[in-house]
Amino acid sequence: MTTLPTPARRTLGNTDITISPLAWGMWRSEGSADDLAALLNTALDAGIDLIDTADIYGFNGSDGFGDVESLLGDVLAADALLRDRMVLVTKGGIMPPLPYDQSTGYMQSALEKSLTRLGTDVIDLYLIHRPDILTHPQELARFLDDAVTSGKVRAIGVSNFTTAQIEALSHFLDTPLAATQPEISPLRIDAFDNGEMDQAMRMGVTLMAWSPLGGGRLMRPENERDRSVARVLGFVAEEKGIDRAVAAYSWLMAHPAGIVPIVGSQKPERIAEAAQAMEISWTREEWYRVFTAARGAPLP
Ligand code: NAP
Repeated sequence: MTTLPTPARRTLGNTDITISPLAWGMWRSEGSADDLAALLNTALDAGIDLIDTADIYGFNGSDGFGDVESLLGDVLAADALLRDRMVLVTKGGIMPPLPYDQSTGYMQSALEKSLTRLGTDVIDLYLIHRPDILTHPQELARFLDDAVTSGKVRAIGVSNFTTAQIEALSHFLDTPLAATQPEISPLRIDAFDNGEMDQAMRMGVTLMAWSPLGGGRLMRPENERDRSVARVLGFVAEEKGIDRAVAAYSWLMAHPAGIVPIVGSQKPERIAEAAQAMEISWTREEWYRVFTAARGAPLP
């Protein structure tokens, strides 16, 4: 049986920024600055140093835009050592209720506001959250290049972009994209064969997987397909003596693209346990068992 390599620390895209093979995200963060500080410290202490937020996190449909960034800014202000322990990722470009604006004026202002809320001089990785169909990729590329040249951003990337949108944006960029962030999980396998992973590997772009547990449905299945994928993942997890969530993260991490799952849990014990995924290896047979269950049909 061939064993696939276990994930290691790596560089973010083609940059010299080193990252853990697992990230932690704040989409579901709520509560006080003390609560957030405890979760962040749990992630960092467990060796997870790629930390994902966005300007829209905290928005509840009518207000709260920027609230999670502000809370993180408070946490960073209270502990001078924290900022240097993490690779800080934030995103912009969604503007409720529009829903998207990536015109230069809007993006310049969005980036300034993120820097202010976070209380930092530089964002390590700045992502365009979702594509704005009404902004020409040349205009967006100019904004992103300028953000890097000005020193406000160290690396750039996109989220929820199609391969064609990534190709078009890259054509106009001087700075190579360092990351892309699609939804990937055993319940969402489109990226494995729709060209997204092949493109990321060809371009040397880091793939960050959002909702690696299908938003929690792998742990609390909601329909027959969820149940059948969770069941097969559970069998393999049991054989390996690990939790199903850890199996899901490490299954993604075993892919040669070097997928970095973003742990979404807001429970310290689950964040700490997630770090076990950095030690788990998969055989090809085990990996394909889960992939086949995810497809819902045998491979040809
Ligand atoms: P996820 O890991 O798929 O789902 C997290 C949810 O699963 C939480 O509600 C969590 O609850 C639950 N969960 C985790 N472990 C569990 C367990 N053992 N048993 C039962 N429930 C469990 O990830 P996600 O939160 O949807 O997304 C992760 C991150 O991806 C976000 O924080 C954000 O940074 C990023 N993201 C990006 C985009 C984008 O468009 N770029 C979109 C969505 C998310 P507990 O908190 O109670 O553990």
